[in-house]
Amino acid sequence: MKGLLPSAIPNPLLDFLKCGRHVKSTICDPENILKAENKNVLEGFINQVKNAEIGVLVIKLMDKRYNSGKDAEERSELFARQVHDDWGIGSKDQDNGILIFLSTDDRVVFISTGTGVSKELNVGNIDGIIGHMRPYLQRKDYATAIEHSVLEIKNVLGSRTYFDDNTLVVLFVFALFVFFGISAYKDHRKMKKLKKGRAVLSKMMAEVERDENGIVGYESQSCPICLEDFSEPCPEATTEAPNRPMTLQCKHIFCYSCLSDFFKTPGQKKCPICRSPIKTDQQNSNCTDSHQILSPQSRYPEYQYRLERMHVLYPEVVDYGLFRSASTSLNQASLQQFRQVMEERRIEVNRIISSSQAQQQAASIGNRGTRITGSSFGGGKSSGGRGGRF
Ligand SMILES: [Zn+2]
Ligand SMILES: [Zn+2]
Repeated sequence: MKGLLPSAIPNPLLDFLKCGRHVKSTICDPENILKAENKNVLEGFINQVKNAEIGVLVIKLMDKRYNSGKDAEERSELFARQVHDDWGIGSKDQDNGILIFLSTDDRVVFISTGTGVSKELNVGNIDGIIGHMRPYLQRKDYATAIEHSVLEIKNVLGSRTYFDDNTLVVLFVFALFVFFGISAYKDHRKMKKLKKGRAVLSKMMAEVERDENGIVGYESQSCPICLEDFSEPCPEATTEAPNRPMTLQCKHIFCYSCLSDFFKTPGQKKCPICRSPIKTDQQNSNCTDSHQILSPQSRYPEYQYRLERMHVLYPEVVDYGLFRSASTSLNQASLQQFRQVMEERRIEVNRIISSSQAQQQAASIGNRGTRITGSSFGGGKSSGGRGGRF
Protein backbone atom coordinates (compact mmCIF):
# COMPACT_ATOMS: atom_id res chain seq x y z
CA MET A 1 0.00 0.00 0.00
CA LYS A 2 1.22 3.42 -0.95
CA GLY A 3 1.32 6.06 1.72
CA LEU A 4 0.74 9.80 1.50
CA LEU A 5 3.09 12.76 1.51
CA PRO A 6 2.19 16.04 3.26
CA SER A 7 2.11 17.73 -0.14
CA ALA A 8 -0.71 15.39 -1.20
CA ILE A 9 -2.95 16.33 1.73
CA PRO A 10 -5.83 18.61 0.66
CA ASN A 11 -7.01 21.53 2.77
CA PRO A 12 -10.48 20.65 4.09
CA LEU A 13 -11.61 24.27 4.01
CA LEU A 14 -10.81 24.53 0.32
CA ASP A 15 -11.13 20.97 -0.92
CA PHE A 16 -13.64 19.43 1.43
CA LEU A 17 -14.80 16.78 -1.05
CA LYS A 18 -11.27 15.45 -1.41
CA CYS A 19 -11.13 15.39 2.41
CA GLY A 20 -14.13 13.07 2.61
CA ARG A 21 -16.53 15.81 3.74
CA HIS A 22 -19.67 17.20 2.09
CA VAL A 23 -19.34 20.64 3.70
CA LYS A 24 -16.53 23.06 4.44
CA SER A 25 -14.72 21.39 7.28
CA THR A 26 -11.62 21.35 9.45
CA ILE A 27 -11.48 17.56 9.25
CA CYS A 28 -9.57 15.85 6.48
CA ASP A 29 -10.11 12.15 6.03
CA PRO A 30 -9.13 11.58 2.37
CA GLU A 31 -9.40 7.79 2.60
CA ASN A 32 -12.74 7.88 4.45
CA ILE A 33 -11.51 6.01 7.48
CA LEU A 34 -14.16 7.61 9.70
CA LYS A 35 -17.91 7.33 9.15
CA ALA A 36 -19.73 10.45 7.92
CA GLU A 37 -21.94 10.67 11.01
CA ASN A 38 -18.88 10.40 13.28
CA LYS A 39 -17.25 13.26 11.40
CA ASN A 40 -20.36 15.37 11.94
CA VAL A 41 -20.27 14.69 15.66
CA LEU A 42 -16.58 15.50 15.74
CA GLU A 43 -17.03 18.70 13.77
CA GLY A 44 -19.76 19.74 16.20
CA PHE A 45 -17.43 19.28 19.15
CA ILE A 46 -14.64 21.13 17.32
CA ASN A 47 -17.02 24.02 16.70
CA GLN A 48 -17.62 24.27 20.44
CA VAL A 49 -13.97 25.10 21.04
CA LYS A 50 -14.02 28.84 20.79
CA ASN A 51 -10.52 29.96 21.67
CA ALA A 52 -8.52 27.76 19.30
CA GLU A 53 -8.65 26.50 15.74
CA ILE A 54 -8.59 22.73 15.54
CA GLY A 55 -7.81 20.68 12.47
CA VAL A 56 -8.00 16.90 12.22
CA LEU A 57 -6.14 14.74 9.74
CA VAL A 58 -6.63 10.99 9.52
CA ILE A 59 -4.69 8.90 7.03
CA LYS A 60 -3.81 5.23 6.69
CA LEU A 61 -0.09 5.50 6.08
CA MET A 62 2.68 8.03 5.62
CA ASP A 63 4.65 7.60 2.40
CA LYS A 64 7.64 5.33 3.16
CA ARG A 65 9.94 7.80 1.43
CA TYR A 66 8.97 10.59 3.79
CA ASN A 67 11.98 11.06 6.14
CA SER A 68 12.72 7.38 5.69
CA GLY A 69 15.72 7.43 8.01
CA LYS A 70 13.61 8.33 11.04
CA ASP A 71 11.21 6.25 13.14
CA ALA A 72 7.43 6.48 12.90
CA GLU A 73 7.07 8.82 15.88
CA GLU A 74 9.60 11.33 14.56
CA ARG A 75 8.08 11.12 11.08
CA SER A 76 4.59 11.71 12.47
CA GLU A 77 5.80 14.87 14.21
CA LEU A 78 7.36 16.23 11.03
CA PHE A 79 4.31 15.22 9.01
CA ALA A 80 1.80 16.79 11.39
CA ARG A 81 3.73 20.02 11.81
CA GLN A 82 4.16 20.32 8.05
CA VAL A 83 0.41 19.98 7.47
CA HIS A 84 -0.30 22.35 10.36
CA ASP A 85 1.86 24.97 8.60
CA ASP A 86 0.50 24.18 5.12
CA TRP A 87 -3.11 24.61 6.24
CA GLY A 88 -2.13 27.54 8.45
CA ILE A 89 -4.17 26.43 11.44
CA GLY A 90 -4.73 29.11 14.08
CA SER A 91 -4.93 32.86 13.76
CA LYS A 92 -1.79 34.65 12.61
CA ASP A 93 -1.56 36.93 15.63
CA GLN A 94 -2.56 34.42 18.33
CA ASP A 95 -1.14 31.23 16.80
CA ASN A 96 -3.85 29.25 18.53
CA GLY A 97 -3.90 26.34 16.08
CA ILE A 98 -4.03 22.64 16.91
CA LEU A 99 -3.72 19.71 14.53
CA ILE A 100 -4.69 16.23 15.63
CA PHE A 101 -2.92 13.86 13.29
CA LEU A 102 -3.54 10.15 13.12
CA SER A 103 -1.89 7.59 10.87
CA THR A 104 -3.76 4.36 11.50
CA ASP A 105 -1.42 1.83 9.91
CA ASP A 106 1.70 3.56 11.21
CA ARG A 107 -0.08 3.38 14.58
CA VAL A 108 1.00 6.88 15.59
CA VAL A 109 -0.83 9.97 16.76
CA PHE A 110 0.57 13.49 17.00
CA ILE A 111 -1.02 16.65 18.38
CA SER A 112 0.68 19.72 16.94
CA THR A 113 0.23 23.06 18.72
CA GLY A 114 0.83 26.73 17.97
CA THR A 115 2.57 28.98 20.50
CA GLY A 116 -0.75 30.52 21.56
CA VAL A 117 -2.07 27.27 23.02
CA SER A 118 1.16 25.48 23.94
CA LYS A 119 1.15 26.88 27.48
CA GLU A 120 -2.12 25.19 28.42
CA LEU A 121 -1.86 22.35 25.95
CA ASN A 122 1.65 21.41 27.04
CA VAL A 123 3.53 18.15 26.64
CA GLY A 124 2.21 16.79 29.94
CA ASN A 125 -1.39 17.49 29.04
CA ILE A 126 -1.02 16.03 25.57
CA ASP A 127 0.57 12.89 27.05
CA GLY A 128 -2.50 12.55 29.25
CA ILE A 129 -4.85 13.06 26.31
CA ILE A 130 -3.04 10.52 24.15
CA GLY A 131 -3.09 8.11 27.09
CA HIS A 132 -6.88 8.35 27.13
CA MET A 133 -7.10 7.96 23.35
CA ARG A 134 -4.91 4.85 23.30
CA PRO A 135 -7.48 2.20 24.35
CA TYR A 136 -9.87 3.42 21.62
CA LEU A 137 -7.11 3.62 19.04
CA GLN A 138 -6.07 0.06 19.85
CA ARG A 139 -9.67 -1.07 19.29
CA LYS A 140 -9.61 0.82 15.96
CA ASP A 141 -12.36 3.09 17.30
CA TYR A 142 -10.61 6.13 15.84
CA ALA A 143 -13.68 8.38 15.89
CA THR A 144 -14.21 7.99 19.64
CA ALA A 145 -10.50 8.47 20.30
CA ILE A 146 -10.41 11.78 18.42
CA GLU A 147 -13.74 12.85 19.92
CA HIS A 148 -12.29 12.34 23.40
CA SER A 149 -9.18 14.30 22.50
CA VAL A 150 -11.25 17.26 21.25
CA LEU A 151 -13.38 17.26 24.41
CA GLU A 152 -10.25 17.11 26.58
CA ILE A 153 -8.59 19.90 24.61
CA LYS A 154 -11.74 21.94 25.13
CA ASN A 155 -11.50 21.33 28.89
CA VAL A 156 -7.80 22.14 28.99
CA LEU A 157 -8.34 25.41 27.14
CA GLY A 158 -11.35 26.17 29.35
CA SER A 159 -13.45 27.24 26.42
CA ARG A 160 -17.12 27.92 26.46
CA THR A 161 -19.65 26.50 24.05
CA TYR A 162 -19.79 28.38 20.82
CA PHE A 163 -23.58 28.38 20.67
CA ASP A 164 -25.73 29.10 23.68
CA ASP A 165 -28.17 26.43 24.76
CA ASN A 166 -31.24 27.94 23.10
CA THR A 167 -29.54 28.24 19.73
CA LEU A 168 -28.39 24.70 20.21
CA VAL A 169 -31.92 23.43 20.79
CA VAL A 170 -33.29 25.29 17.76
CA LEU A 171 -30.45 24.04 15.59
CA PHE A 172 -30.93 20.57 16.94
CA VAL A 173 -34.61 20.38 16.06
CA PHE A 174 -34.05 22.04 12.68
CA ALA A 175 -31.16 19.79 11.71
CA LEU A 176 -33.01 16.78 13.01
CA PHE A 177 -35.69 17.02 10.35
CA VAL A 178 -33.81 18.69 7.53
CA PHE A 179 -30.51 16.84 7.52
CA PHE A 180 -31.10 13.51 9.17
CA GLY A 181 -34.64 12.77 8.06
CA ILE A 182 -35.96 9.40 9.00
CA SER A 183 -32.88 8.08 10.76
CA ALA A 184 -32.78 11.02 13.13
CA TYR A 185 -36.50 10.75 13.61
CA LYS A 186 -35.96 7.18 14.74
CA ASP A 187 -33.16 8.28 17.07
CA HIS A 188 -35.45 10.93 18.40
CA ARG A 189 -38.17 8.37 19.06
CA LYS A 190 -35.67 6.06 20.71
CA MET A 191 -34.60 8.93 22.95
CA LYS A 192 -38.21 9.76 23.71
CA LYS A 193 -38.84 6.17 24.66
CA LEU A 194 -35.72 6.11 26.82
CA LYS A 195 -36.94 9.23 28.60
CA LYS A 196 -40.40 7.77 29.02
CA GLY A 197 -38.86 4.59 30.43
CA ARG A 198 -36.77 6.68 32.78
CA ALA A 199 -39.91 8.49 33.99
CA VAL A 200 -41.68 5.17 34.58
CA LEU A 201 -38.65 3.89 36.48
CA SER A 202 -38.50 7.04 38.61
CA LYS A 203 -42.20 6.84 39.34
CA MET A 204 -41.94 3.27 40.48
CA MET A 205 -38.94 4.08 42.65
CA ALA A 206 -40.83 6.90 44.31
CA GLU A 207 -43.62 4.45 45.09
CA VAL A 208 -41.15 1.91 46.47
CA GLU A 209 -39.50 4.59 48.58
CA ARG A 210 -42.79 5.62 50.13
CA ASP A 211 -43.54 1.98 50.77
CA GLU A 212 -40.10 1.45 52.33
CA ASN A 213 -40.59 4.38 54.67
CA GLY A 214 -43.84 2.77 55.73
CA ILE A 215 -45.63 6.07 55.96
CA VAL A 216 -48.59 5.54 53.72
CA GLY A 217 -47.96 2.05 52.43
CA TYR A 218 -48.05 1.27 48.79
CA GLU A 219 -50.08 3.63 46.68
CA SER A 220 -51.10 2.56 43.24
CA GLN A 221 -50.97 5.67 41.08
CA SER A 222 -50.42 4.10 37.70
CA CYS A 223 -51.77 1.13 35.84
CA PRO A 224 -49.60 -1.99 36.28
CA ILE A 225 -50.30 -3.09 32.70
CA CYS A 226 -49.67 0.03 30.60
CA LEU A 227 -47.71 1.84 33.38
CA GLU A 228 -49.55 5.06 32.52
CA ASP A 229 -50.79 7.36 35.28
CA PHE A 230 -54.40 6.95 36.30
CA SER A 231 -56.71 9.79 35.43
CA GLU A 232 -58.43 11.65 38.26
CA PRO A 233 -59.85 9.28 40.84
CA CYS A 234 -63.60 8.83 41.07
CA PRO A 235 -65.94 10.54 41.11
CA GLU A 236 -64.13 13.34 39.22
CA ALA A 237 -63.27 11.04 36.32
CA THR A 238 -65.85 10.85 33.63
CA THR A 239 -66.94 7.39 32.58
CA GLU A 240 -65.23 7.99 29.21
CA ALA A 241 -61.78 8.39 30.77
CA PRO A 242 -59.98 5.24 29.57
CA ASN A 243 -57.30 5.67 32.26
CA ARG A 244 -59.68 5.74 35.17
CA PRO A 245 -58.68 3.33 37.92
CA MET A 246 -60.73 0.19 38.42
CA THR A 247 -60.31 -2.09 41.40
CA LEU A 248 -60.78 -5.84 41.55
CA GLN A 249 -61.90 -7.83 44.58
CA CYS A 250 -58.30 -8.76 45.31
CA LYS A 251 -57.62 -4.99 45.63
CA HIS A 252 -55.32 -4.80 42.63
CA ILE A 253 -56.04 -1.72 40.56
CA PHE A 254 -55.84 -1.30 36.79
CA CYS A 255 -56.94 1.26 34.29
CA TYR A 256 -60.28 0.75 32.63
CA SER A 257 -59.00 0.25 29.08
CA CYS A 258 -56.29 -2.29 30.01
CA LEU A 259 -58.69 -4.24 32.16
CA SER A 260 -61.40 -4.40 29.51
CA ASP A 261 -58.81 -5.46 26.89
CA PHE A 262 -57.60 -8.13 29.28
CA PHE A 263 -61.09 -9.52 29.79
CA LYS A 264 -61.72 -9.72 26.04
CA THR A 265 -59.21 -12.56 25.84
CA PRO A 266 -61.08 -15.84 26.43
CA GLY A 267 -60.21 -17.59 29.66
CA GLN A 268 -58.82 -14.46 31.32
CA LYS A 269 -61.12 -14.37 34.27
CA LYS A 270 -58.36 -13.94 36.80
CA CYS A 271 -56.51 -10.92 38.17
CA PRO A 272 -53.48 -10.31 35.90
CA ILE A 273 -51.26 -9.95 38.97
CA CYS A 274 -52.38 -12.40 41.63
CA ARG A 275 -54.48 -14.75 39.50
CA SER A 276 -57.40 -14.57 41.95
CA PRO A 277 -60.59 -15.57 40.17
CA ILE A 278 -62.86 -12.72 39.20
CA LYS A 279 -66.61 -12.97 39.43
CA THR A 280 -68.35 -12.37 36.12
CA ASP A 281 -70.35 -9.46 37.47
CA GLN A 282 -67.09 -7.76 38.38
CA GLN A 283 -65.73 -7.69 34.85
CA ASN A 284 -66.77 -4.11 34.51
CA SER A 285 -65.45 -3.44 37.95
CA ASN A 286 -65.93 -0.42 40.13
CA CYS A 287 -64.30 2.88 39.53
CA THR A 288 -62.10 3.44 42.53
CA ASP A 289 -60.02 5.89 44.49
CA SER A 290 -56.44 5.27 43.39
CA HIS A 291 -55.02 5.73 46.87
CA GLN A 292 -55.68 2.18 47.83
CA ILE A 293 -53.26 0.75 50.34
CA LEU A 294 -52.22 -2.78 49.52
CA SER A 295 -51.07 -5.35 52.04
CA PRO A 296 -47.43 -6.53 51.78
CA GLN A 297 -48.66 -9.83 50.35
CA SER A 298 -50.30 -8.04 47.42
CA ARG A 299 -47.46 -5.56 47.05
CA TYR A 300 -44.59 -7.86 46.11
CA PRO A 301 -46.51 -9.60 43.31
CA GLU A 302 -47.45 -6.15 42.06
CA TYR A 303 -43.81 -4.97 41.97
CA GLN A 304 -42.87 -8.20 40.25
CA TYR A 305 -45.62 -7.71 37.68
CA ARG A 306 -44.67 -4.08 37.07
CA LEU A 307 -41.04 -5.08 36.64
CA GLU A 308 -42.06 -7.58 33.95
CA ARG A 309 -44.16 -4.93 32.22
CA MET A 310 -41.26 -2.48 32.31
CA HIS A 311 -39.03 -5.12 30.78
CA VAL A 312 -41.62 -5.68 28.02
CA LEU A 313 -42.48 -2.03 27.34
CA TYR A 314 -39.08 -0.41 28.01
CA PRO A 315 -36.38 -3.02 27.37
CA GLU A 316 -33.88 -0.17 26.79
CA VAL A 317 -34.30 0.76 30.43
CA VAL A 318 -35.08 -2.56 32.10
CA ASP A 319 -32.98 -5.05 30.17
CA TYR A 320 -32.94 -8.74 30.88
CA GLY A 321 -29.98 -8.51 33.28
CA LEU A 322 -31.68 -5.88 35.41
CA PHE A 323 -34.96 -7.77 35.25
CA ARG A 324 -33.23 -10.85 36.64
CA SER A 325 -31.38 -9.12 39.46
CA ALA A 326 -34.35 -6.96 40.46
CA SER A 327 -36.58 -10.05 40.42
CA THR A 328 -34.18 -11.83 42.74
CA SER A 329 -34.32 -8.94 45.21
CA LEU A 330 -38.10 -9.08 45.17
CA ASN A 331 -38.12 -12.84 45.69
CA GLN A 332 -35.93 -12.29 48.74
CA ALA A 333 -38.36 -9.58 49.84
CA SER A 334 -35.51 -7.06 49.95
CA LEU A 335 -37.10 -3.79 48.99
CA GLN A 336 -33.89 -1.95 49.77
CA GLN A 337 -31.82 -4.07 47.41
CA PHE A 338 -34.51 -3.79 44.77
CA ARG A 339 -34.42 -0.03 45.02
CA GLN A 340 -30.64 -0.03 44.87
CA VAL A 341 -30.36 -1.98 41.59
CA MET A 342 -33.09 0.17 40.06
CA GLU A 343 -31.36 3.35 41.22
CA GLU A 344 -28.04 2.25 39.69
CA ARG A 345 -29.84 1.73 36.42
CA ARG A 346 -31.51 5.12 36.63
CA ILE A 347 -28.13 6.80 37.00
CA GLU A 348 -26.85 4.84 34.01
CA VAL A 349 -29.89 5.79 31.90
CA ASN A 350 -29.37 9.46 32.82
CA ARG A 351 -25.79 9.18 31.65
CA ILE A 352 -26.83 7.55 28.35
CA ILE A 353 -29.45 10.22 27.71
CA SER A 354 -27.16 13.17 28.37
CA SER A 355 -24.23 11.80 26.37
CA SER A 356 -26.52 10.96 23.47
CA GLN A 357 -28.00 14.45 23.59
CA ALA A 358 -24.52 15.98 23.49
CA GLN A 359 -23.69 13.78 20.49
CA GLN A 360 -26.86 14.69 18.63
CA GLN A 361 -26.35 18.37 19.27
CA ALA A 362 -22.78 18.12 18.08
CA ALA A 363 -23.83 16.18 14.97
CA SER A 364 -26.46 18.74 14.09
CA ILE A 365 -23.91 21.53 14.25
CA GLY A 366 -21.16 19.50 12.57
CA ASN A 367 -23.37 18.68 9.64
CA ARG A 368 -23.45 22.35 8.76
CA GLY A 369 -19.69 22.36 8.51
CA THR A 370 -17.10 24.39 10.26
CA ARG A 371 -17.76 27.73 11.92
CA ILE A 372 -14.66 29.27 10.33
CA THR A 373 -16.10 31.97 8.14
CA GLY A 374 -13.06 32.94 6.08
CA SER A 375 -11.97 30.99 3.06
CA SER A 376 -9.32 29.14 5.03
CA PHE A 377 -7.57 28.79 8.36
CA GLY A 378 -6.08 31.86 9.99
CA GLY A 379 -2.47 31.42 8.86
CA GLY A 380 -1.02 30.06 12.12
CA LYS A 381 2.05 27.87 12.48
CA SER A 382 3.07 24.88 14.53
CA SER A 383 5.53 25.47 17.33
CA GLY A 384 5.72 21.88 18.56
CA GLY A 385 3.46 19.34 20.15
CA ARG A 386 3.58 15.78 21.29
CA GLY A 387 2.82 12.39 19.88
CA GLY A 388 2.77 8.75 20.74
CA ARG A 389 2.35 5.21 19.48
CA PHE A 390 -0.62 2.97 20.00
ZN1 LIG B 1 -53.52 0.52 31.77
ZN1 LIG C 1 -55.08 -9.29 42.21
